[in-house]
Amino acid sequence: MKRVFSILLLMGAVVLVGGLSFLFFFKFEGTPPEIQKIIINEPVGKKGSLSLEISDKRSGIRSIKVILSQKGKEAVLAEKEYPVDFIWGSKKKRAYLEIRFEPLKLGFRSGKARLGFQIADGSWRNGLKGNTLWWEREILLDLDSPRIVIHSPIHYLSPGGSNLVVYSISEKVSRQGVVLNGHFFEGYTLPQAPGLYFSLIALPLEEKEITQMFVEAEDLAGNKARLPVAYYVRKKRYRHDVINISDRFLKRKIPEFWERYAEVPRGDLLKAFIYINTEMRKKNNTTISKLARHSQTKGFYGDKAFLRLPKSATRALFGDHRTYYYKGKEIGRAVHLGIDLASVARAPVPAAAEGKVVFADYLGIYGNTLILDHGFGLFTLYAHLAGFNVSVGDTVKRGQLLGYTDTTGLAGGDHLHFAVLVQGIFVEPIEWFDPHWIKTRIVEKLPQKVLKHE
Ligand SMILES: [Zn+2]
Repeated sequence: MKRVFSILLLMGAVVLVGGLSFLFFFKFEGTPPEIQKIIINEPVGKKGSLSLEISDKRSGIRSIKVILSQKGKEAVLAEKEYPVDFIWGSKKKRAYLEIRFEPLKLGFRSGKARLGFQIADGSWRNGLKGNTLWWEREILLDLDSPRIVIHSPIHYLSPGGSNLVVYSISEKVSRQGVVLNGHFFEGYTLPQAPGLYFSLIALPLEEKEITQMFVEAEDLAGNKARLPVAYYVRKKRYRHDVINISDRFLKRKIPEFWERYAEVPRGDLLKAFIYINTEMRKKNNTTISKLARHSQTKGFYGDKAFLRLPKSATRALFGDHRTYYYKGKEIGRAVHLGIDLASVARAPVPAAAEGKVVFADYLGIYGNTLILDHGFGLFTLYAHLAGFNVSVGDTVKRGQLLGYTDTTGLAGGDHLHFAVLVQGIFVEPIEWFDPHWIKTRIVEKLPQKVLKHE
């Protein structure tokens, strides 16, 4: 009997100790919640966001409060409460919060502010309020949009034409440029002209009107600003041309393409030509646009009238709308995106301006093609060449020999196909040949210091 009583007593003691341990280790646990991850995009702009990951392995998360404060002003950005069971605590062991807030609308101002978190768990400590984690840190609010000032006067443009917009921005930006009919033209900077941005713009050939044009800037806090650019659109008419394709031309040209490109339909000369003149032309133009979008060069070399192929006659113009016929039947249409200049056969081709060779290879309808980068997103292209006297990566001087004219690619006769691109858009080369145009559209807008290169 005595023995049985002792056993019961012992068992009772075990249960009691177990219960107390449970209370101390579980219900009265003293480990506060932990912050696993905080992501804040700083400086915080008009549209702020932060994400927060919290865990509490033992008694779970009871509540989360996120507070922003500045000089006595306080705002609760987020507040969460989770159900806490008296015995089992909170089931929420891990919480993930995405908080979006607009400090300006909440009455805050640019400058320093404090961001705080107050997180409690499901423990019985602190009079059943749980262990609390207090976390606080200083953050920077930038609630001012960048201020843009445009320095260049009214911008004249015609479809296919170019121009230069010069502007300055009041603060550091993550993105800036000119938006024209939805096309984005980034602004370039020069070490000699701190604070100024130079954006070469172009109205694509097919777009007859300007529906929108503005400088856009976004600061490091994500605050955006826009300022309209003054413009005047000048009408321009382009020619319509008929090109008759002969059997002789097909027999002479197509085998060159069959040899180089597996994608060209075999057997039928006309089918091959139609493929080359439409699909391949499109692909080649896309390739060129991509190559001529961003400048790698530091300077800008489009401040002198471009050199033309010496002693040459103009055979075709930029923007010629061509309709192709074979034995009286229409077989396709294309727009000519450069100017055709013909001199004697194998005429030496000079660089139109100082620049860097960014492409020198055979490129479909354009044959042996060379592309030069002149800075600010300005590029020139030389097609149907016999070969190359320079290679990719070379810096060439204005007038330097690049190669010789030929008929490589889809050229009927020996000539130079010369094209100009502004940030990936094919533009009218004649503007860039014209010293008066260069002076009024480009040079007069550049600070004198910028022009001091050879
Ligand atoms: Zn051409």
